[in-house]
Amino acid sequence: RPRILSGVQPTGNLHLGNYLGAIRNWVSGQTERENYFCVVDLHAMTVPYTPSELAQNSYTVAALYLACGLDPQYSVIFIQSHVPAHSQLAWLLNCITPLNWLERMIQFKEKALKQGEDVGVGLLDYPVLMAADILLYQADLVPVGEDQKQHLELTRDIAQKFNHLFAQPETPILQVPEPLIGTAGARVMSLTDGTSKMSKSDPSDLSRINLLDPPDMIQKKIKRCKTDPMRGLEFDHPERPECHNLLTLYQIFTQQEKATVANAVKDMGWGEFKPKLTEAIIEHLRPLQAKYQELMGAKDYLYQVLQDGRERANQVAGITLERVQKAMGMAIPA
Ligand code: ATP
Ligand code: MG
Repeated sequence: RPRILSGVQPTGNLHLGNYLGAIRNWVSGQTERENYFCVVDLHAMTVPYTPSELAQNSYTVAALYLACGLDPQYSVIFIQSHVPAHSQLAWLLNCITPLNWLERMIQFKEKALKQGEDVGVGLLDYPVLMAADILLYQADLVPVGEDQKQHLELTRDIAQKFNHLFAQPETPILQVPEPLIGTAGARVMSLTDGTSKMSKSDPSDLSRINLLDPPDMIQKKIKRCKTDPMRGLEFDHPERPECHNLLTLYQIFTQQEKATVANAVKDMGWGEFKPKLTEAIIEHLRPLQAKYQELMGAKDYLYQVLQDGRERANQVAGITLERVQKAMGMAIPA
């Protein structure tokens, strides 16, 4: 069975992009794989954040994992900082990662640009910590959205470099992982700009639909979202990125073929389409939101899941960390 690792940062409200690009694909393959899913709180500290909110956000994200359908019977669910090996391996990998590999990363350039002067070293180092997350569990596959493809390639490069430097070719120490990127929903775009991806960190809440948005909020956001004045609706028109994005969401949430949707909407106007899309999203999110409320109402179950996850993740991660430490020449106390 292939081993899987993935995670989401507790940087804000989880949105349809996180769900369609990542979490939904974690859930659908869950029973056929060996799964590790973490809430990557150490990653959330690479941009300005509010300390008094971080822990709560981590629990919210973990509860959403469960509400979306992750099942602790099949998946190890944990908080990244509960497993110290993530930070420890990140340091060791830092020592073999060339600076210019990190300076090339698009996410770093974009996020650094937004932050201006005050960019921490952690933001540059983000992909090395991500490599540590993945490599500790010897993951074969990493289900992520399209935006993480470059970081995955870097993880592969780091793993290969490590094996080359510290292992024999016939007995590599780190498994070189493959990205698992879906087709529909791998890149959900902002509601206010069809050329940039939907993000937790976008300052405008109107740019995204959060998994916990109440129905009237979803309605308001779809009503106000950016569209265009052209007649009829269509996929794949280079000058209509918003149209393509909204139709794709509709297709996914109504579980139809693309051609069926394309045919149904070709003479439709926005006034007719928007309420249909709104309804489809609200209905899909309804059971998920109810489950979330239930989990947050009595948190004992959530805490127990995270405690179990912590123990299991520490066990697996500890094995890899020790092999790496030995190979790199650290003195391991007897
Ligand atoms: P931030 O703005 O803080 O970086 P984010 O919305 O990008 O937040 P992350 O926690 O960085 O969310 O990413 C979690 C997962 O969600 C990753 O697998 C990422 O590829 C995926 N993802 C994020 N945004 C989108 C999107 N718009 N479409 C599809 N997948 C996405
Ligand atoms: Mg991101």
